[in-house]
Amino acid sequence: MMIVSSLDELRAARRLLDGTVGLVPTMGYLHEGHLSLVRLAREECDRVVVSIFVNPTQFGANEDLSKYPRDLERDLKLIDPLGVDLVWNPTPEIMYPPGYQTWVEVKTLTHPLEGAMRPEHFKGVTTVVAKLFNAIQPHKAYFGQKDAQQAAVIRRMVRDLNFPIEMVVCPTVREADGLAMSSRNKYLEGDDRRAATVLFRALSAAKSAHEGGERDAEKLRATMKGVLAAEPKATPQYVSCADYDTLEELEMVQGKSLLSMAVLIGRTRLIDNFVLE
Ligand code: AMP
Repeated sequence: MMIVSSLDELRAARRLLDGTVGLVPTMGYLHEGHLSLVRLAREECDRVVVSIFVNPTQFGANEDLSKYPRDLERDLKLIDPLGVDLVWNPTPEIMYPPGYQTWVEVKTLTHPLEGAMRPEHFKGVTTVVAKLFNAIQPHKAYFGQKDAQQAAVIRRMVRDLNFPIEMVVCPTVREADGLAMSSRNKYLEGDDRRAATVLFRALSAAKSAHEGGERDAEKLRATMKGVLAAEPKATPQYVSCADYDTLEELEMVQGKSLLSMAVLIGRTRLIDNFVLE
């Protein structure tokens, strides 16, 4: 497994990779969710590249950039046995050298949900992913359904900017009790960890209602809000039942739809979603 940091090293290492290349972009502190993307990339591509970069431009001023968990040594130990060919671990200065002023921005899709709560977030995400795509030139790129809006926004960017890259979106990997795996789960201590299952319980309740024939989106949102309201440690930021592609809030659920939410558990902000087919 080659491990590189500078752009020159990356380019030299990339030239050694023949065949199809799959990229798994991550911010590190890897868990089974990330590893599931790496495993699928390993199955589908001749070569696998993992990027590990805590991207400062996707964090808001009051967010957890400095506290975001980092452990490169542990990450490398986790992915080495999976047959990863190349790890790119650039510094913020390599990604954003002095004088940096170029941004990639997807418009309407970034306005609701996460974008409404975190105004600069997706501009940071699309910019860094475009830079990863340009530098690594993968044939396929692997993302998690866990970050549903991120996947939708990047899919739009890939189409709009003609990146010759196939996007693969992998199912959310969960703990045994339903909590979606996330690097931020590390912040959940004591009773917060138990309370954090409320996102899965709320989504499951709405999914059951949908399976039982409920098509009124407002009722599905109310079902989720009801479950969240019963958990004293949970402060919902948004609860959504939206069109899967446009992310516009629905009145009636007809085609493919997305149930999603952001909830504070104590001071930890968690997101989760279910897709309704
Ligand atoms: P992050 O390191 O949080 O930026 O995540 C890197 C990639 O892993 C993103 O495409 C995420 O959507 C994906 N990911 C994170 N958590 C999970 C999970 N629990 N299941 C599947 N994919 C995930």
